[in-house]
Amino acid sequence: MARRGNLFVVSGPAGAGKSEIVKTVLRKHPDVHLSVSCTTRAPRPGEVDGVSYHFVDDARFDELVAANAFYEWAHVHQNRYGTLKSAVQQGLDDGHDLILEIDVQGCLQVLEQNPDATGVFVCPPSRENLEKRLRNRGTETEESIRVRLNNVAGEVATAYRYDYVIIHQDWADVPNALEIAADELYAIITARRLERKNRLDFLDALTESLKK
Ligand code: 5GP
Repeated sequence: MARRGNLFVVSGPAGAGKSEIVKTVLRKHPDVHLSVSCTTRAPRPGEVDGVSYHFVDDARFDELVAANAFYEWAHVHQNRYGTLKSAVQQGLDDGHDLILEIDVQGCLQVLEQNPDATGVFVCPPSRENLEKRLRNRGTETEESIRVRLNNVAGEVATAYRYDYVIIHQDWADVPNALEIAADELYAIITARRLERKNRLDFLDALTESLKK
């Protein structure tokens, strides 16, 4: 029987660097796949439909919700984002280890529905680091920094429901912080592949061959 892939959900507060970490893993390890989500937001320059996202309008998103086509979906920053059931099923059936890089609300939905999924929470190293990043953008008012830090507090409170926590260090302190975090994510993926339950076909075949 062909190996079924494992499902990984990667989430964490905005600004913690989860998408850079996931992109680094995908670039270094072509054996890891990303599920392409649907979104109602407009494409940014350079984004390709069907690769970055499936870009859909509100009416189409409504149709997909009504057809129960989403594994999970959520409102994030005035837009809607959703993971297609078909994309997840196909990926796992093809034996791919699949990452969903989604927001905290979506992640919790997946972890509740699928006890077999592995939840990975990407965290900033400290409040000071997050505050520094928000201030460095130069676009945030004191009030909006306070609101954002408050939102992060709510997101960090959900970290206790995940299986793994990656601390994405400040590159000012740890110059190769991104590489370290990406290696840690790939280590989690590797560990799941090596679990006994994923090795039963091999062990059975070896056991059989030794009887001869
Ligand atoms: P962006 O618009 O910057 O690409 O993504 C905004 C946020 O939406 C990010 O936190 C990203 O992880 C999240 N997101 C992307 N795709 C999905 C999805 O399919 N479901 C959910 N719940 N969140 C998503």
